[in-house]
Amino acid sequence: MTSENIPRATAKRLPIYYRYLNILHDTGKQRISSTELAEAVQVDSATIRRDFSYFGALGKRGYGYDVDNLLSFFKQILNQEHLTNVALIGVGNLGHALLNFNFHKDSNVRISAAFDSNQEIVNTIEDGVPVYPIGELEHQLHEQQIQVVILTVPSKAAQAVAEQAVAGGVKGIMNFTPIRINVPEDVLVQNVDLTNELQTLIYFIDNFSK
Ligand code: ATP
Repeated sequence: MTSENIPRATAKRLPIYYRYLNILHDTGKQRISSTELAEAVQVDSATIRRDFSYFGALGKRGYGYDVDNLLSFFKQILNQEHLTNVALIGVGNLGHALLNFNFHKDSNVRISAAFDSNQEIVNTIEDGVPVYPIGELEHQLHEQQIQVVILTVPSKAAQAVAEQAVAGGVKGIMNFTPIRINVPEDVLVQNVDLTNELQTLIYFIDNFSK
């Protein structure tokens, strides 16, 4: 079974399983039942058994699942074995924060290149990451085979920059700007609007909190 054959809903749960299995592995636990796993990750055990069944008979009745086996399987399927390089575009306040954030500690992702239009910071190293002029975006993305970019430019620049990134061959954009960008169908966009998230939380506290 390859990752293409796995249902989307199952694929979305894999990182949750993967994280928890890592914790189990670190604490020295060698096996786990689907019921135990269900409680820990808050996914019902029937769903877990069905999810795991896509990978063949990984569990044994009365024994549960072998943690190391599962882990090495997920590693492979989630591509955790090799590092994924991501680029960040727009090294402002939020961009800096993300450059400083240690993604690599809990995942296989690291920001390996940054881009900006500000002449003061281009061709320097910020927070350990080289900052390239935005004019080099398309070329560098191709050159470094980067498929995912984080967008932290001002809203008014977002669409144009996204188009340049698409021309550079990216397959995914994490969009931190509040505007919705238009990209070709085969490019995935994950929107993260922090202001909106915070306002939603405050709205729920004001309206539904007892
Ligand atoms: P933040 O919104 O992250 O708090 P900020 O307020 O410090 O950032 P912004 O004006 O939002 O600054 O710009 C974020 C960064 O994006 C800046 O470093 C800016 O130079 C850069 N930037 C602006 N326009 C472009 C562009 N067209 N291409 C690339 N980078 C850009």
